[in-house]
Amino acid sequence: MFQVNNLCFKYPKNKENTIKNVSFEIKEGEVFGLLGPSGVGKSTTQKILIKLLTNYQGEVLYKNKDLKSYNKQFYQEIGVGFEMPVHFSKLTANENLSFFKKLYKSNANTDELLQQVGLYEDRNKLVNEFSKGMKARLNFVRALINQPKILFLDEPTNGLDPKNARNIKEMIKNFQREGGTVLLTTHLMNDVDELCDRVAFMADGNIAEIDTPKNLKLKHGERKVEVEYKEGKEILKTSFDLDTLSKNDEFTSVVKTKEIVTIHSKETTLDDIFIKVTGVESDE
Ligand code: ADP
Ligand code: MG
Repeated sequence: MFQVNNLCFKYPKNKENTIKNVSFEIKEGEVFGLLGPSGVGKSTTQKILIKLLTNYQGEVLYKNKDLKSYNKQFYQEIGVGFEMPVHFSKLTANENLSFFKKLYKSNANTDELLQQVGLYEDRNKLVNEFSKGMKARLNFVRALINQPKILFLDEPTNGLDPKNARNIKEMIKNFQREGGTVLLTTHLMNDVDELCDRVAFMADGNIAEIDTPKNLKLKHGERKVEVEYKEGKEILKTSFDLDTLSKNDEFTSVVKTKEIVTIHSKETTLDDIFIKVTGVESDE
């Protein structure tokens, strides 16, 4: 759906390029995750793909045609949930949605969407009176208002409690099941594990890794067994390589002679990979 080749971008005010040389592809029907620490350029990349920033170098193709060759018609096909929800705060949720609906040829059933995100009861309240999470959920509904083919979601579960985050994730999965394509930016690795078919990790304006979460775990994976055991009054912790366990005399000795407190197999998580490839903790 999208083909990005050697993309570079510099904000006019800045000296250095924010996007340094980025290439990736978003395939039709996939949920593609753009990951990386704060300030790395995820939102900037997304803004280029939705034609908000046009002064870039390199090539962006949408359905095999230069993105620059598309007119406003392009916006009929895409849904965008910006990082910072912008609503008319003196209008109700419903009035906000009605306003934006008029911009599009195709309209989703907003009552249904409001019900799905748990805002139906609040539809006639002023957005002014909405909490941060409610605004985020309304923002998500707005992204779906034109029955888009592609959804651009920038940190869609940010500021949501676990139940509402789960709801939104279910809706993203449904969107995909019905044939939709999603570009998701996030720094929350749980969301990635649940949603993304492929991910790109950005570091310093470049893409450091791009693959399926499963392959990345295999590539960076260390399969370990972590054992906590009692040694006198102390509790000691050691880890052993999972794949050579049966030949590991130290492990055998610990299991035979010590009182075990806990024993866990530990696979590399996306969080571990995030830190490894970007050099930054994922919750920063
Ligand atoms: P992310 O979404 O990964 O957190 P952004 O794409 O928002 O990162 O920002 C990438 C970098 O570009 C940051 O250093 C940010 O300060 C800078 N930046 C973002 N927007 C602007 C702007 N309008 N003008 C100048 N610099 C900007
Ligand atoms: Mg961002």
